[in-house]
Amino acid sequence: MNFLNWLKNLLEEMFKTAEAEPTPKIDGHLVVIIGHGMNSDKGAYGIAPLSMFETDYNKLVASDMASYAKKLGLPCTVLSKTGKTTYGVGAEATRTVKEAKKGCVIELHFNSYNGAASGTETLYDRDEKDNKLFAEICQKKMVALFGRPNRGVKDRTVGRGGSNLDSVKVTSCLVEPLFGDNKIDAGLLKTRRKEYAACLVDAAAEYIGGL
Ligand SMILES: [Zn+2]
Repeated sequence: MNFLNWLKNLLEEMFKTAEAEPTPKIDGHLVVIIGHGMNSDKGAYGIAPLSMFETDYNKLVASDMASYAKKLGLPCTVLSKTGKTTYGVGAEATRTVKEAKKGCVIELHFNSYNGAASGTETLYDRDEKDNKLFAEICQKKMVALFGRPNRGVKDRTVGRGGSNLDSVKVTSCLVEPLFGDNKIDAGLLKTRRKEYAACLVDAAAEYIGGL
């Protein structure tokens, strides 16, 4: 390659980078609630190779989500329950989304049962009209990422998670990506963490974009 070609390639590369820089801003707000964390409640324990409690793992996921949302241009707020009440956190999440006019809330958990159960599920509260739709968007992306059994979206009235979701009065869902007490699932939670965080932000962006 001669000098002029080299210079041309260099300028093209620089131009591409400059073009890619200003990311479009998404008009809306994502609120991420880290599940558990009140008093001594750390949630379920994720076995090796994850080797951490639900709330500690989800702090990392929430931080990954905030970084990825920033790249995407989607305003994002992370709420922890530590030192607060479920109602207080729900009210804060609701207010944040309402101020932005458009948006949604995702509460982070992971499942635990008997070591043998595995797979992905998303819980929702049917009180808000879009909750099932939003739960389905999150569920689809998590199932595609992890490739584990699709346990579906579940109305909170048939199981746990209700009190958390009930305190949020805007579009929301509660994700149970995998089982922390299942060895394969725990491995995926560890190795695919950043992709998992990104797929949830993508789900929020897809939902907000469709509003
Ligand atoms: Zn949980």
